[in-house]
Amino acid sequence: MAGASRARVVCLAGDAIGPEVMAEAVKVLRAVVPDVELVEHPFGGDAIRRLGEPLPAETLEACRTADAVLKAPVGAPEFDAADVRPEQGILALRAELELYANLRPAARDGVDLLIVRELIGGIYYGAKGTRADGTVYDTCEYHPRQVERIARRAFELARGRRGKVCSVDKANVLETSRMWRRVASEVAAEYPDVEFEHMLVDNAAMQLVESPARFDVVLTENMFGDILSDEAAAVTGGLGLAASASLGDSGPGLFEPVHGSAPDIAGKGIANPAAMLRSVALMLEHGLGRPAEARAVASAVDAAIEAAPTPDLGGTATTAELGEAVLSLLPGA
Ligand code: NAD
Repeated sequence: MAGASRARVVCLAGDAIGPEVMAEAVKVLRAVVPDVELVEHPFGGDAIRRLGEPLPAETLEACRTADAVLKAPVGAPEFDAADVRPEQGILALRAELELYANLRPAARDGVDLLIVRELIGGIYYGAKGTRADGTVYDTCEYHPRQVERIARRAFELARGRRGKVCSVDKANVLETSRMWRRVASEVAAEYPDVEFEHMLVDNAAMQLVESPARFDVVLTENMFGDILSDEAAAVTGGLGLAASASLGDSGPGLFEPVHGSAPDIAGKGIANPAAMLRSVALMLEHGLGRPAEARAVASAVDAAIEAAPTPDLGGTATTAELGEAVLSLLPGA
């Protein structure tokens, strides 16, 4: 963490629509927390073009010593078949900062759920390769300690919400899931005030569409959480609205929209900045300890997407117009 009294946020503007939505985030941050220092560093495709790697050492060091990291999406078609790709920078940054807890809220029309996804284990990080006979493999691996810490995080968060945790796994098939279920149950026993259930991932995928309002906190592993959180985003308004926070036990958290860099609409000025701005709200709450400012930004975004919806929401507002609407709806504006 930064030692100076002035909090410092590292901004990673990313690729394609990344800089477009980051520009709105910077305007809102300057308005609500003018005391916070904002510094930009190269990351993703932009960093590969300029410096040959997606997570340059200087960017990593700046992130490590910041109070929080605000990241716009990365990725561009020119890198799809390349050996060095922007997305490698995301996985490396998450692992370097030990960001094991990924929080993905989804709320709309009576639905208010929080997916708590394990972020640096499982099949995305397990052994992978190609055997001599041509078989390609990815392995799903978890240590009980990894499950315990993410489960504890989910139960703590549930206490500040409606007090319910649903742990999602595939325990009828996978060894890692059977261990996940056992450890999650052990942690649940320490939180008798929190209602707890297990659910198989295929059932959870269906319930998220059929009755999303039944969920409060959904605790799950890396790949299941990746997929279910996009599904939850879709049932609560779409990818343009979904934000995420990635947290460790100490050190800076990483705050970013769930959506990608949307190269298909880059440069048109029509990207929805709401997910980016909701990521700002999550950062104010979980990264900078400014809950009042977090609530102000979140409410302003909710009102602005009604008043000035972008094309993905059926409206005609540009990125900058939605950003302006948010600014005008902030207290004291
Ligand atoms: P995407 O999320 O970029 O786009 C999917 C669809 O949603 C597109 O039609 C896009 O126009 C639309 N969309 C996304 N965000 C929007 C917004 N803010 N406003 C309006 N419409 C929006 O997913 P993709 O096309 O599969 O991926 C594009 C690139 O992004 C790829 O290179 C991928 O690897 C990368 N990606 C990065 C991240 C990240 O940085 N965390 C996450 C996912 C994908």
